[in-house]
Amino acid sequence: MEKRQVVLPTLSRVAVCGGTHGNELSGVYLVRERLKKKKVVEEEEHVSVVTVMSNPRAVQHCRRYTETDLNRCFTRATLSSPVTDKTPYEIVRSQELNSLLGPKGSPEATDLVCDLHNTTANMGLCFIAYSDRDWISLHIYRHLQRQMSGIPVRFLHFDLPLNEAYSLDSVGKHGFAIEIGPQAHGLVRSNILSAMQEGVQHMLDWVRLFNSGAQFEGGQVEVYTMVKNVDYPRDPETCGLTAAIHPQLQDRDFCLLRPNDPLFQTFSGETLKYKGTEALYPFFVNECAYYEKGIALSLARQRSVGIPSIRSEREGERGKFKSAAEEIEEEETEEEGSPIEMECEKQSGSL
Ligand SMILES: [Zn+2]
Repeated sequence: MEKRQVVLPTLSRVAVCGGTHGNELSGVYLVRERLKKKKVVEEEEHVSVVTVMSNPRAVQHCRRYTETDLNRCFTRATLSSPVTDKTPYEIVRSQELNSLLGPKGSPEATDLVCDLHNTTANMGLCFIAYSDRDWISLHIYRHLQRQMSGIPVRFLHFDLPLNEAYSLDSVGKHGFAIEIGPQAHGLVRSNILSAMQEGVQHMLDWVRLFNSGAQFEGGQVEVYTMVKNVDYPRDPETCGLTAAIHPQLQDRDFCLLRPNDPLFQTFSGETLKYKGTEALYPFFVNECAYYEKGIALSLARQRSVGIPSIRSEREGERGKFKSAAEEIEEEETEEEGSPIEMECEKQSGSL
């Protein structure tokens, strides 16, 4: 059990973004509803929330993107690349969003950026973030896990430095994507939209509580760290698929995949097994948007991470705890955890 207490600056500016992928309709409709009812920026007692439709042109065409994937444009290199007449729309848009919500890595950046996505994979509600020691993100994750009983809530960690972090949420001081599925792209399912609305509401509730001075106790949370992507078996000449995800793996995201478990079924009916030596957790299994990226599924390692108790800075404390916070940043807080097998029956029916 974590005994440390960390004091962090309040989260005075929060962004809720959707439509970064124009055919992921839960985020699109959640943002439209928020914009219909409220102003773009809501000023409240403890927080100002900005609502953003990230890729309006792709939303208009109900496509993931128009020229290039917007959610791969937020690396430092792309954000600083010169714009000409030939620059793809999404690169221009990424720079606009960086001006609106960033600049990335600067003191002016929005305190918390939450970007809403859908997946065709059976992933439940999944946080995706670049840090496994961002206490704000991990506390919000645990809050949603406790509040939302109807859907599995998990945290995926992509271990990339800020410069290489490519998604919109990396523009904020803290940030994550919330990925919810399964939902086919281009349609909206009420259960998935409700889960997203509920998740966003719990996140904003947590931010208000945090800003008003509440103390959140430390503890342990489960984190999945991305290990690698696996492509489909392909014809060496045409590059066309020769197999699909095996029926025993389909819809079993986050269920432990052991060496020699079925992975693919060829179009002639043969089973191809997982040849890795380490048991890992599959996710983004058969995600529709990743066929073009050469990803049939991704694999993660699960472990337990200790999170400290946190509260926000009080009036007059500004800057006082900075050195303590920095110290914690340096400290090695990872705790090795053995993979825990998930009970998969639980997740299959819920979404
Ligand atoms: Zn997406």
